Amino acid sequence: MATNVKKSNTDDTWFFGHPKGLVTLFFTEMWERMSYYGMRALLVLYMSGAVTGFNPGLGFTQIDAQAIYGIYVGMVYFMCIPGGWLADNILGYQRAVMIGAVIIALGHFTLALPLTQTFFLGLTLVVLGTGLLKSNISTIVGQLYKDGDARRTSGYTIFYMSINIGSFLGFLICSYLGEKIGWHWGFGAAGIGMLFGVIQYYYFRGLLGNAGIKPNDMPDEQRQVYIKWSRVTIALMGAVIVAGLLGFISVDPRAFAEYFLYFLGVVAAIYFAYLLLLAGLSSQEKKNVFLLMILFVAAMFFWSGFDQSGGSLSIFARDYTDLSVVGYVIPVGWLQFANPLFVVIFAPIFAGIWTNLARVNLNPSYPLKFAIGMFFMAISFLVMIAAVELALVSAPVGMQWLIITYLLHTWGELALSPVGLAAFSEYSPKKYQGQMFGLWFLASALGGVLAGLLGGDALVEGLESMTPVFDSMIQFYVVAGIVLVLFASVSYYLRSRNN
Ligand code: GLN
Repeated sequence: MATNVKKSNTDDTWFFGHPKGLVTLFFTEMWERMSYYGMRALLVLYMSGAVTGFNPGLGFTQIDAQAIYGIYVGMVYFMCIPGGWLADNILGYQRAVMIGAVIIALGHFTLALPLTQTFFLGLTLVVLGTGLLKSNISTIVGQLYKDGDARRTSGYTIFYMSINIGSFLGFLICSYLGEKIGWHWGFGAAGIGMLFGVIQYYYFRGLLGNAGIKPNDMPDEQRQVYIKWSRVTIALMGAVIVAGLLGFISVDPRAFAEYFLYFLGVVAAIYFAYLLLLAGLSSQEKKNVFLLMILFVAAMFFWSGFDQSGGSLSIFARDYTDLSVVGYVIPVGWLQFANPLFVVIFAPIFAGIWTNLARVNLNPSYPLKFAIGMFFMAISFLVMIAAVELALVSAPVGMQWLIITYLLHTWGELALSPVGLAAFSEYSPKKYQGQMFGLWFLASALGGVLAGLLGGDALVEGLESMTPVFDSMIQFYVVAGIVLVLFASVSYYLRSRNN
């Protein structure tokens, strides 16, 4: 059964040759990412900050702070699966984004309260809201275009710009306010940013036309059953959350993160097994899903390195990096500017490279692009090892080490992340599109939790423990990169033999 989304915007070229609905999505995502990354940049600093003195933090150990960071990032992206399901089957994508945006804003405002008791409530709300917003807004982007519309990939590239303009603003504003004035000011600024996003989306969602307006076609009775079970599940989840927040359930963050990682691994395995074996897909669809599964695993590894920026690398910036610029000590989070800045600079260059290669029929396949992502990630941690070794001799080290690391992360990201969105939009079985985006973000979820666990390991003994962890990550990236190249070569060979 196909989705019954009508695509009325497809001849529209109002926004840089793209449908005008992209403007609405652009700004909504920009504000959402401003709030997400702005807050994320403060998170481990706040959690691991001393409990006394100027701007007191929560005084958590690095192991706990990193594990909670990982669980948070993991939960944010994991919730995209139920969020995608709700949009597919009950809410429709447009409505899911609206509700999600409001919940996220409430979450940040909760974090802005100068209370430690409401900290986890705030995080929980951001998690739930992002689950409804993040993957569904990406689905709507794809639905602005007809199947086979060549503008889709560049549509995602433009959308990716909004993500990075947003995160740039987040680092700029939230890190300054949070670190220099008070953590809760930074959290509050994230809330105000998201509020702008809510208002903007509310007034301009009309530009989306029918894209993403309706859930899947299904008999009314079936939908009613889905609605009933969703209510029961939400009530149960609410009960668990309240019990946790009230302290009836107490968990060790590190152990929780480990179990969560296994859980996510099992969910991913079951989901792919279902799609491949039981979902009644055609053999072409199954081949597509298999390709997406390979990309999924690579993306998971990639994000576990990428998300060190808000974890172990933030601590490296705070404790071992000289942050003064002409006598002014910049906020720790400002170093993370490097990523969005480089994305905005290099995204058009990467897009240009792919287009030019495509012209001579040499556009790398999706797995090859992902392999490039792996190799850049490997080199970035090689640079970090050099920085750590230098810091062991004489800390603090200059900022250039982290900036180069983020540059390499960014090059890797550009070869993998917008490419992954386009691949999931192009190769997902139509009936499962919303959920498939959820699945793409499940790779980010796994990566996020892994990032928290690796970050904890890296920091357990200060600088000394970083090199061995970064070293094993490099080995992983190199192996994953080689596997992807082999996979790409085999599929190329099989395809050319069949032609
Ligand atoms: N930087 C991208 C974003 O925020 C991708 C993040 C991710 O998937 N982990 O959307």
